Amino acid sequence: MTTALAEERRDARADGAAPPRRRHALDLDDFSRDEITGLLDSADAMRELLRRSIKKAPSLRGKVILTLFLEPSTRTRVSFEQAGKMLSADVINISGSGSSAEKGESLLNTALTLQAMRADLLVVRSPHSGAPYFLARNLDRMGVVNAGDGRHAHPTQALLDLMTMRRSLGDLAGKRVVIVGDALHSRVARSDVFGLRALGASVTLCGPPTLLPLDLLRGGGAGVPAAGIPGVSVEHDLDRAIADADAVIALRIQQERQEAGALPGMREYTRRWQVTEARYRKAKPGALLMHPGPMNEGIEIASSLAHAPGALIEEQVTNGVAVRMALLYQLLTGEREGGEA
Ligand code: ASP
Repeated sequence: MTTALAEERRDARADGAAPPRRRHALDLDDFSRDEITGLLDSADAMRELLRRSIKKAPSLRGKVILTLFLEPSTRTRVSFEQAGKMLSADVINISGSGSSAEKGESLLNTALTLQAMRADLLVVRSPHSGAPYFLARNLDRMGVVNAGDGRHAHPTQALLDLMTMRRSLGDLAGKRVVIVGDALHSRVARSDVFGLRALGASVTLCGPPTLLPLDLLRGGGAGVPAAGIPGVSVEHDLDRAIADADAVIALRIQQERQEAGALPGMREYTRRWQVTEARYRKAKPGALLMHPGPMNEGIEIASSLAHAPGALIEEQVTNGVAVRMALLYQLLTGEREGGEA
């Protein structure tokens, strides 16, 4: 999916001109390699603030950030709030229940109301793919951050995944990442693919044929070239897919979005696609093991692995705060580093 602004930014890049300042973060397919790298560098610097006893910098004082979550969330919502507050922004959380959305107000009218209060940025999660794009097209003063839209995109999860991999593996160019599970319904998988490809990693998607996003692989999906995305392959056999991988990302089975019959059955799924200790040992020594959470331990990932030393699942959560600080800072100031942070 693209917005007029994203197209303008792409044209400017192609002409060698400085692209207009980014106001929205909708998905990583419109972030250049340099922009992603700059954000990750900034997030590494922001992470230092998390280690301080007083976790506060004045960088976003006077800015107002709204979070509007119309789907459940623990990690993403809390980390956006924490990121904004650590940089001294005022963060106001709105949930679907208790807001005028319950009285039938449309998403756009809710957003226009919030914009009229002079908020600077809206962080939105919606069950509808494309909802943040629609808002970005229709809001002229308030920026929009996509905190997950249906099965489409989750750019800040992808940024935190890239940050986690880069901190352990260094440059991701030439690295091989395996994403296992329900990629079809996973907005995380789609955004990870765009981010990993931008940084030069190759991606193998592994899972039952009914749960693979064929539009990404064969082309024709939103933001996907007609011939599919080069550097992305499919392997249904997890033992083969995992061999020599540098990083393995297990995905949650997204039952809330699956059509009946998409899965062969939970026992069969677990037998063939669970990341087990034996399978994980086939990856490169020291390979990273990740999961976006929330985890179904014992289904997509063996319980014995979920908290094992190679697993970086809590590290991903910590990096999520840092990467969201970096993104909020860039969107609200137009700069990369939190100078006073
Ligand atoms: N928390 C991630 C998301 O919101 C992954 C998941 O729910 O499985 O997409």
